[in-house]
Amino acid sequence: MTAYPHLLEPLDLGHVVLPNRVIMGSMHTGLEDRLSDLPKLAAYFAERARGGVGLMVTGGYAPNRTGWLTPFGSTLSTRRQARKHRMLTDAVHAAGGKIALQILHAGRYSYHPFSVSASAVKAPINPFKPRALSDRGVRKQISAYVDCAGLAQEAGYDGVEIMGSEGYFINQFLAERTNKRTDRWGGSAENRRRLAVEIVRRTRERVGPNFLIIYRLSMADLVEGGQTWDEVVALGKEIEAAGASIINTGIGWHEARVPTIVTSVPRAAFTSVTAAFKPHVSIPVVTSNRINLPQVAEEVLARGDADLISMARPFLADPDWVLKATADRADEINVCIACNQACLDHVFAKKKASCMVNPRAARETELQLLPTRKVKHIAVVGAGPAGLAAAVTAAERGHDVELFEADQEIGGQFGIARRIPGKEEFAETIRYYRRRLEITGVKVHLGRRASAADLAGFDEIVLATGVVPRVPSIPGIDHPKVLSYVEVVREGKPVGDSVAVIGAGGIGVDVSEFLTTVDSPTLDLDAWKAEWGVADPTVTRGALGVPHPEASPRQVYLLQRKPGRIGAGLGKTTGWVHRAALKNKQVEQLRGVNYERIDDEGLHLTFGPQHEKPRVLAVDTIVVCAGQESVRDLADTLTTSGRPVHIIGGADLAAELDAKRAIDQATRLALTL
Ligand code: NAP
Ligand code: SF4
Repeated sequence: MTAYPHLLEPLDLGHVVLPNRVIMGSMHTGLEDRLSDLPKLAAYFAERARGGVGLMVTGGYAPNRTGWLTPFGSTLSTRRQARKHRMLTDAVHAAGGKIALQILHAGRYSYHPFSVSASAVKAPINPFKPRALSDRGVRKQISAYVDCAGLAQEAGYDGVEIMGSEGYFINQFLAERTNKRTDRWGGSAENRRRLAVEIVRRTRERVGPNFLIIYRLSMADLVEGGQTWDEVVALGKEIEAAGASIINTGIGWHEARVPTIVTSVPRAAFTSVTAAFKPHVSIPVVTSNRINLPQVAEEVLARGDADLISMARPFLADPDWVLKATADRADEINVCIACNQACLDHVFAKKKASCMVNPRAARETELQLLPTRKVKHIAVVGAGPAGLAAAVTAAERGHDVELFEADQEIGGQFGIARRIPGKEEFAETIRYYRRRLEITGVKVHLGRRASAADLAGFDEIVLATGVVPRVPSIPGIDHPKVLSYVEVVREGKPVGDSVAVIGAGGIGVDVSEFLTTVDSPTLDLDAWKAEWGVADPTVTRGALGVPHPEASPRQVYLLQRKPGRIGAGLGKTTGWVHRAALKNKQVEQLRGVNYERIDDEGLHLTFGPQHEKPRVLAVDTIVVCAGQESVRDLADTLTTSGRPVHIIGGADLAAELDAKRAIDQATRLALTL
């Protein structure tokens, strides 16, 4: 008897039976762009096929050069390319998996000057204005899709996913926002959907009946001028009639100003949209977005919201997600915490994607977890992300590991992050490591500040002693109204009605959100929808309502000395969400400040290099978020005594206190010990 009967139920699609209801959704890794990276991509997918996922979808491949996401990006348009892809499909099939190729034409999201679209309407997130296609041009693009699907079939794929959502090419034809045409491809809703329907109809003609066609349909555009619900439903019906096997849910265009996948979006926030759509078609429907645990997926399916669940990032975090669910070991899943730090932020920076909590993702050929030939007695000091990753990785390889932590609990900086509203997922990573420590038999010493004497006799010593908050040298910094972010967030020290936050890095922004939020919106879907203005798409066009953020319980000032934009260093795909949240909560942001002094009156500021415009912030509390300094006392003692030590994480480099770097560094080190 499984805890996930709906999730693990096979699905008979006629010519093929999927072993369960789990699809690994499309996620660009950057390995798609060069044929020479295909062996790495094959290893990446094969590992996930072995992990039991029912069906996988590749990152997007453009059907031709005009559809390129970026110049020389992933394309499938020649037989030579198709032949090379055999290596990937063979590897997946040998591992018992199934895989579909996603066909993605970026349209006006193409980051090059030769982009095309329904009309010459520039996207707000792209400097290049597209050219409006002629009638012949539109037909050429349709043929490119069909040829691409044919090539995917030749390459051994089990199907294709036609990307019709997220504001890409097909979606641009569907919505009035971007389709201003007056010919048979524009105007009425029927004309606007002609392109999508023609692509599916002609693809089915080309590939025959025994090949999957998944159509990703935008069910809530979340932009002005998006599709109405009637249009969405009519499109779904025609897509089914045109020969699609499965309809997948797409939510929100890339230019939408509503977050759809970041960690502050509540789990399964959009499955009600799929549920509203499902009764209108008879083919299986997939739902997606912020589903990361078997229990969450099971509840969605048991409610009847969808027939299948698509997850992309959770499979970067843990290739064995399905195996663990099947074996009732869900507590061992390394959960995607939706941080985007190593996946989407990398893709947008044109770097290869990986995963913050699993640095082996898309590095399977490089970072192999091989058993050690010589078992060593290893001490790891510090149970923050770096220490935890080092300890479990070394233990997984067969080493005898002891972990020392001065605190009473593991987690380090993640113990702070998980208390920030909208970052509750960070607790999952701590839970994962706690379980891994148990399973791998690491001997954990909590509440024990390791001394040099404690570490005598170990073959290797890994120091992950982390950081302490920096105390800036401002006159009056020891005033009772001054607290560190650790005292506020972790220790819960009381904070007044008006607060100045010194330092506007990642932690200053997090602390500002912490101070301006009454209850965590992540835990209350209705509150979150109200905050961002997410409406019912069956009633409100594109699901785009009016935001009604809850008022902040206190006045917060967020300060930085630099003159530049606050939050400029935040992640590419998450920074805008934090900046919008601060604006919603009316956090007053002051930059280019000088901290003159702190006294009973408050925080005395001046501005600019000339120390002008003196201003006193008459606040009750001042919270210091001015970065960190490495804790290296033990490192200094041990290195001077000539002991072999490895220093990692914040203890190594506080300036870049960064969990992604820490876990990656720790994992790589542990693979060499
Ligand atoms: P940070 O990003 O280095 O920011 C610290 C801020 O304090 C700086 O912006 C700096 O700005 C100010 N500062 C530095 N020295 C100061 C001094 N002596 N006096 C007054 N102000 C000073 O550090 P953090 O905010 O602690 O974040 C650490 C790391 O955690 C980040 O690098 C990030 O990787 C990670 N993190 C990210 C997020 C996120 O992305 N949402 C959230 C939390 C943590 P000025 O010098 O201009 O004033
Ligand atoms: Fe998930 Fe973060 Fe890993 Fe991306 S980097 S897969 S969002 S945990």
